[in-house]
Amino acid sequence: MNLILLGPPGAGKGTQAKRLEESRGIVQLSTGDMLRAEVASGSDLGKEAKGIMESGGLVPDEMIVNMISSRIDQKDCANGFILDGFPRTTPQADALDAMLTDKGLKIDHVVELKVDDDAMVERITGRFTCAKCGAGYHDSFQKPQKEGVCDKCGGTEFTRRADDNEETVRARLKAYHDQTAPIIGYYDKKGVMKSVDGMAAIDEVTKQLEGAIG
Ligand code: AMP
Repeated sequence: MNLILLGPPGAGKGTQAKRLEESRGIVQLSTGDMLRAEVASGSDLGKEAKGIMESGGLVPDEMIVNMISSRIDQKDCANGFILDGFPRTTPQADALDAMLTDKGLKIDHVVELKVDDDAMVERITGRFTCAKCGAGYHDSFQKPQKEGVCDKCGGTEFTRRADDNEETVRARLKAYHDQTAPIIGYYDKKGVMKSVDGMAAIDEVTKQLEGAIG
């Protein structure tokens, strides 16, 4: 099964994609994670993307499309994949269509996580991650049981994304509404579009999502 999760930054796409990875045995393909790995490695692609990501804008379509196309060709995607953060523009959606047709694949479901923008600013600016195992936490909603210690692995170092500050979050939300939201109509016309209440509790969102994809 091949899925697309849509929704603004902070909607919970990454959290839900990780749960679907476990329940369905399909892989999460997060273009944001891939780009952050490129930035960390200091590659040419990473150098080009870094400033754009820090300002909350979108990196050029061509760069992303090539990156995702070669990722889909890897063996672990054979069972299916969850696209998280891609496509983000109409040209990316067109390119995805053409690419999947070439590979003899298709998208089975596109699910939008519907949320309120203002709540997203609070969700994003408070989030942090264990540097060792990647477990996610939040200053207000999900603190580690013991302050400064990861519940899952006992790690004591945590990281925050460079683009999770209020100014950049507002730019990322604007990019979503201006450039990404229009693709909801694109998938609606194809009859593959579903939506779930992304403001509900995490377990409830998972339940709705599992129901939507059948
Ligand atoms: P995310 O982790 O999905 O919030 O992505 C972080 C940042 O990476 C975004 O704000 C963009 O600058 C960039 N990015 C991720 N995916 C895409 C994409 N499909 N198209 C363009 N830029 C992207």
